[in-house]
Amino acid sequence: MKVRVRFAPSPTGPLHIGGVRTALYNYLFAKKNNGEFILRIEDTDQTRYVPGAEKYIIESLEWLNIKFDEGVHIGGSYGPYRQSERKHIYKQYAEKLVKEGHAYYAFDTPEELEAMREKLKNAGSSSQQYDSQTRGNMKNSLTLPADEVKKRIESGVHYVIRIKIPENTEVQVYDKIRGLVTVQTSILDDKVLFKSDGMPTYHLANVVDDYLMKITHVIRGEEWLPSAPLHVLLYRFLGWEKEMPEFAHLPLLLKPDGKGKLSKRDGDKLGFPVFPLNWNDPTTGELSSGYRESGYFPEAVVNILAFLGWNSGTEQEIFSMDELINLFSMEKVGKSGSKFDVNKAKWFNHQYLVAKDNLTLAELYKPFLQEKGINADINYIAEVCNTLKSRVNFAKEFWEQGPYFFIAPEEYDKTAVKKRWKEKSPEIMEMLASEFEKLNLFDLTTVEECFKEFLEKNNFSNSDVLAPLRLVLTGLAQGPSVFEIMSVLGKNKTIARMRNYKSITIS
Ligand code: GLU
Repeated sequence: MKVRVRFAPSPTGPLHIGGVRTALYNYLFAKKNNGEFILRIEDTDQTRYVPGAEKYIIESLEWLNIKFDEGVHIGGSYGPYRQSERKHIYKQYAEKLVKEGHAYYAFDTPEELEAMREKLKNAGSSSQQYDSQTRGNMKNSLTLPADEVKKRIESGVHYVIRIKIPENTEVQVYDKIRGLVTVQTSILDDKVLFKSDGMPTYHLANVVDDYLMKITHVIRGEEWLPSAPLHVLLYRFLGWEKEMPEFAHLPLLLKPDGKGKLSKRDGDKLGFPVFPLNWNDPTTGELSSGYRESGYFPEAVVNILAFLGWNSGTEQEIFSMDELINLFSMEKVGKSGSKFDVNKAKWFNHQYLVAKDNLTLAELYKPFLQEKGINADINYIAEVCNTLKSRVNFAKEFWEQGPYFFIAPEEYDKTAVKKRWKEKSPEIMEMLASEFEKLNLFDLTTVEECFKEFLEKNNFSNSDVLAPLRLVLTGLAQGPSVFEIMSVLGKNKTIARMRNYKSITIS
């Protein structure tokens, strides 16, 4: 049987990075098994619909190179893939369940439901559910005479269809990650399957669509595990038990301290995004930052997410998408939640950054320079990137690591000046500048050799010359090799800075 999996987000806002991980694991599993990956939009709850969310989901996954075989944006032979466009499909299944005694019509008003809960609470009952204990006292097709039920439905009053959870039964769910999970039906409530607005609820639509779309594996977040027994019952009642997909509920993504689910607030507090792309909330106007705009590479984000819950079982940490597809297996997905580690995330980005060629990095850095009014030659920017790349995690950090490649320093590190700038430093700078002047070639080796000869000839120590030299060139106490900096700056700029430094006063 062809493996078919789906990612089934609800368009209620920006896609959380945990949702992206769910999509990624579905994709890896599908591709590993030569299967198909489907994007289904679960928009049955019209009250929570957020405009732009669907587009955002599609754009995010495209950016990450997580590709679908069928879906709302590309079509396929099991469409439509948006549940609101499948509205006409669900009612017949809800009614079939009623007819066969597995579901019933309920007419209770919100006030009556509230009164039931209140009464149970006051009586000290631990559960205030609509279930086998309470349904007998409510207004539904199990308690009202048949003609009254018919009359009510025909009159167009508000009603819902609820599942009739069987009493004293054990429901077993086999989960590929957790093994066998057994639940007593006494803890389940008679969930609404179909609403008065003509829409199914998530539970019914999800099961019907997974069946009709021939889904073989349901891979989703752990928060859906409590709903799985209800879904198993629906498959049974609808006579689809043989076609029931296998389940795998992925462990939660946890806050960096491991205490609870990773939230947008954690990201804001600790300075990392929890969304793939920037998101501008259409109602509040609030902007949430995304991985893309924060300078993460899509391959790095995939790599970060692959490791948040899965383990290759080897020492290797950097994996391309193809390698992940090759190695992925549900058996290597852990049971416990995975803590988000900000530094590790940055480390992954750094690994991808240093592996890029210098011209690519230069293209990424260029817009930041242009923002500062600097229009440098792309090959020069590439050399700068080459010199600085071991020190940055993101393209935007090139500037803070080496503004001196584009502007001569106007201030000099005070502590370094105090410690390293001596009375004889101006003279040494002039003497060395004269030596540099004689050079025809100004590459790394030539400059370094010239410098060493200069030390020997004049009996200067390294520290007499190198630290003051770094200061006049960069204004800083530390950075990449001074020889490398000089070879990038070139002869003219190097010599000019050695002669024209300002505001260095001898302490
Ligand atoms: N629509 C559900 C969600 O937003 C999908 C859960 C599932 O995959 O069954 O997460």
